[in-house]
Amino acid sequence: MPEQKQDTKPRVLSGMRPTGKLHLGNYMGALANWVKLQDTGLYECYFFVADLHALTTDYADTSGIEPNTLEVALDFLSAGLDPALTSIFVQSKVKQHFELPMYLGMITPLGWLERVPTYKEMIENLTNRDLANFGFLGYPVLMASDILLYQPKFVPVGQDQQAHVELTREIARRFNHFYRLEDKDVLPEPQVLLTPSPKLPGTDGRKMSKSYGNTIMITDPEAEVRKKLKGMVTDPARVRRTDPGDPDKCPVGDLHKVFSSAETLAKVYEGCRTAGIGCIECKGWAADALVQVLNPIQERRASFTSKQVEEILQDGNTRAAARAEQTMEEVRAAMKLVPMPVRG
Ligand code: SF4
Repeated sequence: MPEQKQDTKPRVLSGMRPTGKLHLGNYMGALANWVKLQDTGLYECYFFVADLHALTTDYADTSGIEPNTLEVALDFLSAGLDPALTSIFVQSKVKQHFELPMYLGMITPLGWLERVPTYKEMIENLTNRDLANFGFLGYPVLMASDILLYQPKFVPVGQDQQAHVELTREIARRFNHFYRLEDKDVLPEPQVLLTPSPKLPGTDGRKMSKSYGNTIMITDPEAEVRKKLKGMVTDPARVRRTDPGDPDKCPVGDLHKVFSSAETLAKVYEGCRTAGIGCIECKGWAADALVQVLNPIQERRASFTSKQVEEILQDGNTRAAARAEQTMEEVRAAMKLVPMPVRG
């Protein structure tokens, strides 16, 4: 197993729920950015599979959680996360993720949890599940603990997750107000590192999402990518080949903006607006660009055995636990929960 150098660089931490194989939207919205952060060499990086979070909604059928955890870990590695540079771990295998939520849960007012925007939204949307339970209401405390255990300077998240980091900061502030250790803040407030998330439409033009069935998966073979692109919706104004169109009103145009070279993009604008190219040709170029991004990811994916993934996770779990324990020692001491000699 490669040795990771422990250093004093600012820490960065983020996680992802194991919801099965990832699509291009997941990749561009999080993973690609994590890899960029790792590759700058400026940060000590921790990225984890949030399997305990899956339990908050999937508690009635847990059969998918373990296989999906391994799939997502494999996706992390395929995208270019490097275990020599980054600690990749599984949340439930680092026991400190069970302890800190208990302590933080004691100090978090109920009202803070009830006003989390995604709480009501998910209860309304996931109507096939009973989410009126302690675990689901408390998941922002779990998330705050996941973050604060590593005392990271930055948490890279998309806009939709900003409220969670803000709540994490509030919980940290409240903890630091109640408990101090040699007059220092035990749980420093992390900052949001906003992940640029480009507009990435699915094949039907709506946001790419598994629930819409419009995804391009990062494991899709080339033929499948080309087939999906062929069926993709285009600018509705281009009914006939001779009608000019506008890439700014076309989901295929959006894909070009994310994945194609400046040269191809210029050809798309020119050809589309003058009806000089057909949509089939244009979609072929978009597919070429996608395949170029996906090929190295898929090659890396094929190069890992399950055993290697498990070993990488075990190593990441150990490294994460060592870091988390440093925080927990301070937390317990500040809360005066350190083991005491029993007086007779
Ligand atoms: S030419 Fe390309 S950008 Fe223009 S409408 Fe067709 S697919 Fe969309």
